[in-house]
Amino acid sequence: MQYYSTNQKAPLASLHKAVVKGLAEDRGLYMPERIKQLPQEFFNNIQDLSFQEIAYQVADAFFGEDVPADDLKRIVYDTLAFDCPVVKVSDNIYSLELFHGPTLAFKDVGARFMARLLSYFIHQEGKQQVNVLVATSGDTGSAVANGFLGVEGIHVYVLYPKGKVSPIQECQFTTLGQNITAIEVDGVFDDCQALVKSAFMDEELNKKMKLTSANSINVARFLPQSFYYFYAYAQMKRLGKADNLVICVPSGNFGNITSGIFGMHMGLPVKRFIAANNANDIFYQYLQTGVYNPRPSIQTIANAMDVGDPSNFARIYDLYKGDHDKITAEISGATYSDEQIRQTICEVYKKNHYLCDPHGACGYRALAEGLEAGETGVFLETAHPAKFLDTVQSVINQKVDIPATLAAFMKGTKESVPMSKAFSDFKAFLLGNPRKI
Ligand SMILES: *Cc1c(COP(=O)(O)O)cnc(C)c1O
Repeated sequence: MQYYSTNQKAPLASLHKAVVKGLAEDRGLYMPERIKQLPQEFFNNIQDLSFQEIAYQVADAFFGEDVPADDLKRIVYDTLAFDCPVVKVSDNIYSLELFHGPTLAFKDVGARFMARLLSYFIHQEGKQQVNVLVATSGDTGSAVANGFLGVEGIHVYVLYPKGKVSPIQECQFTTLGQNITAIEVDGVFDDCQALVKSAFMDEELNKKMKLTSANSINVARFLPQSFYYFYAYAQMKRLGKADNLVICVPSGNFGNITSGIFGMHMGLPVKRFIAANNANDIFYQYLQTGVYNPRPSIQTIANAMDVGDPSNFARIYDLYKGDHDKITAEISGATYSDEQIRQTICEVYKKNHYLCDPHGACGYRALAEGLEAGETGVFLETAHPAKFLDTVQSVINQKVDIPATLAAFMKGTKESVPMSKAFSDFKAFLLGNPRKI
C-alpha cells in the first residue's frame, strides 16, 4: 500500500517510509491511498471474535500488503496485551474504557503498535539508530516512552511544556532512563509541536540523524487506533445495542476520532460521530461556520485536548475532499468549559456511580445532550481518572485510589533537560553541543 501526503506535493511513500519519516516532505500528513472495505461476513460474526482477532483483520486491511502475516499478527497480539471493555454508565450511554494499558490512556495502543512495527523495520534493514521525537501535552509522552522503552536501536526524545502537564503524567516519561530523554520546554504544547516539526524540516539534522515522529500524525500510531472502534461495536452487538450507534470522542489533535472515521469508511456500522472539545473549540467552530481558524491553545483541566491547531484536521479535510456538508453529515461537535466538565464529573459520579476523567466527561456530556431518540451512545474514556487526581478528587470531594501501575511510576527519580522554545537551542542539543540555558 502506498501513502500520499495531504498537501499533495510529496511523492507517494511506502509504509516503511511513511512510518520512519512521520511527516511528508511537504509537511503534509500521510494517508493510505485506499481504505479497504471489510467483508460483510466479518461484521456478521464480529461478536464472536476476540479483540486481538478483530484487530488483526483490521490491521491486515491496512498493513497486510507490507508486513508478512506472521509478523503482523505478532505485532498486533503483543500490542493488545490488555482489554478495552465497554461499560454501561446510564440507560443508553456506554463508556469504552481505553485506560487498561501500561500508562492508563488510549495512546498505549498506537504507541505500542508503532514501537513494534518500527522495530520490525529496523531489524529488516540493519542497525542505524532511529531517533523518535515526540511532543506531548501529557499522555502521548508517557505512552510513547513506555511503548518504546528498552527497544533496541531506538532513542526517544519527549518534549513537554514546562508546568503544564500533571505531576503524574510527568513522572511517566521523566523517570524511565534507558533510551528515553525527557525535554522540558519553556513554552506551551504548540511550541513543543513546532520544535518537532522544525526538526523534521531541517536538512542538516536529517543528514546527521535518522529522525522519526511518534505523534499521532504517524500512520503507525494513527491507524491502529481504529482497532478498538471495531471491538466496541462487537461488544455493543453482544449486548444487543449496536443499532444506531453514535460514538463520541474527546478530541485534541483529532487522531483518535479520525481513526474511528476511517473505521466507518471501512464499513463499521456507526451512525455518526461526535467530537467533544474543551474550550479549545477550533473544530467545533469549523463545523458551525465552515471556516478553519486555528488559534493559540488555552489551558484547561482536560489538558490532553489543549490543542489550538489540530494536526489531523488535514486528514479529515482530505478524507471528505474539503466538503463541509459531508463532514457535518457524519460528524457533529460539542464544546465545554472547565466548569461544565467539573459539573459533569460530579453528576455522573453521584447519579451513575461512574467516575469519568475530565476528557471522558466531555464525551459523556456530549452524548447526554446530543443523542436522539433510538440512538445508543458510546464515549471513549480516554484516560484513567486517577491520572488527573487533583482535579477529580476536588470535584467529587473524595479520595481516588491510584492504580498500582501508576503508583510505581511515582516512586522513580525525575530527570529532564530544560529547553527554550527556540529551534536553534533544540537543534544544538540534538547535535550534541547544547548551549547553556
Ligand atoms: C491525547 C488525548 C486526547 C486527545 O486525543 P487526540 O487523538 O489528540 O484527539 C483525549 N484524551 C486523552 C486522555 C488524551 O491523552
